[in-house]
Amino acid sequence: MSELNTTSWVDVPHGHDFPLANLPFGIFSAKDRSPRPGMRLGDKVIDLSACHAVGLLNDLGLSAEVLAAHVLNPLMKLGKPVTVALRSRVQALFSADNHELRDRKDWHAACLVEAAAVTMHMPVEVGDYTDFYSSEDHARNVGKMFRDPDNALLPNWKHMPVGYHGRASSIVVSGTPIRRPQGQTRPDPEAPPVFGPSRLLDFELEMGFVTFDGKPMGERITTAEAEDYIFGLVLFNDWSARDIQKWEYVPLGPFLGKNFGSSISPWIVTLEALQNLRVAGPDQSPEVLEYLKYEGDSHYNVPLEVEIIPEGAKKGQIVCRSNFRHMYWNMRQQLAHHTVNGCNLRAGDMMASGTISGPEKGSFGSMLEISWRGTEPVSMPDGTERKFIQDGDTVVMRAPYFGEVSGAILPS
Ligand code: CA
Repeated sequence: MSELNTTSWVDVPHGHDFPLANLPFGIFSAKDRSPRPGMRLGDKVIDLSACHAVGLLNDLGLSAEVLAAHVLNPLMKLGKPVTVALRSRVQALFSADNHELRDRKDWHAACLVEAAAVTMHMPVEVGDYTDFYSSEDHARNVGKMFRDPDNALLPNWKHMPVGYHGRASSIVVSGTPIRRPQGQTRPDPEAPPVFGPSRLLDFELEMGFVTFDGKPMGERITTAEAEDYIFGLVLFNDWSARDIQKWEYVPLGPFLGKNFGSSISPWIVTLEALQNLRVAGPDQSPEVLEYLKYEGDSHYNVPLEVEIIPEGAKKGQIVCRSNFRHMYWNMRQQLAHHTVNGCNLRAGDMMASGTISGPEKGSFGSMLEISWRGTEPVSMPDGTERKFIQDGDTVVMRAPYFGEVSGAILPS
C-alpha cells in the first residue's frame, strides 16, 4: 500500500477532533437513513453501507448486512484484521490524492452526510460491563477521605487492577438524559435508613474500551496479546450516587448507586488511531506478578476535561482537567487480569478505566474529590455553588479525537 496522504479531499479544519488520521466508528441515522455504521471525518459522516453499495469497499470480507446493522457488533465479530483493513481502506479512499470517490460527485450525497444532520445511537450492544479502579490518585483520594490517610491504598491495590462487574443495560449514548436515582440511604448513622432521591449525585471521568470476541472460556489473554482484542475507546461518564453507594456497598460492592446509568461518547476511536499518543506508564512498585508485566509504552496521552453547565446557563464551569495517562494500570494489564482465571470476552464488552484523577487539585475526576466530600464547594459562573450535581445540570466530558459525552440530570 502506498504511503498514506494525511490530508483529505474532504475539508477538515486544523485541530478538528476527527481528522483523516482518526476515523472513528459509530452508529448514526438521518432523515433518509435508518441507524447504520458510519465513520466520522471532519464535519461529515461516511455512510459505510452506501460506500459498499457502489463498490468502494470490495474485497474486505464485508457483507451488506454487516454494514447495514443497527450496531457495530456484527462488524466487530469479524475481528480486528477486518476492522483494521476497513479503516485503512476508508483512509486511503479519502486521501487527497485518491480520485475513486472524490471524482464521483454523483456518489457524494449517498456516501457523505453532514454530521450536524445525523442522530447518533449506541454504537454497540454492550454484553458485559466491567469497571476498574485503576487511577492511583483517585484510589488514594478516596482512601484518604473514607479510611486512613496514612494507608490510603488497600493492600491489594498495587498487586492487581481491582474491578467489579457493572450493569450493561443502562449504558447510554451521549445526549441521553439521566434521571436522578431514588434509593435507600442512611444520612444519620445513628438513625434508621430513609428512602428518597439521591442527594449526592456525582460523575466519574473515565475512558472505556470495547473488546472483540476473546478466546474460548478457560483460556487467558496475555498482556502481549491484549491489543489484538481491543477495538477502540470512548469517553465514559460513570454516574454515581454516593449516598446510596455508601450505605449499600458492604459487603458485596457497588450496586444501585452505580447501575442507574453510564454515558458514553458516540464515536469509538480505534486503538490504531491512538498510536501516536502512546506514552510510558508509571514505574510499578512493588514489582507486579509475571502475568501483569508488559513491554513497551502502553499508556495514552489523552487530555480530558469536565464541564458542568447549569440549566439554562450560557456558560458552564470547567471543574476538571485530567489525562488518560494518569492511569497506574493500563488496558493490557486490565485485560490480562480479567481473563487470567479463564473468563471469556465477547465482541461489544465494555471495560471502563475507573475515575481518572491526576495528582493535583484541578485534575480530580469526580465531585467527591473536587469538593473533597462536600467540604470545598465549586463556584459556578451564575453565582451558585456545587458540591455535587444538581437537577438540570449538564455534565460534559471532552477529549481531542473523542469529541464529547454529555448528559443532563432530570429531577427524580
Ligand atoms: Ca466507575
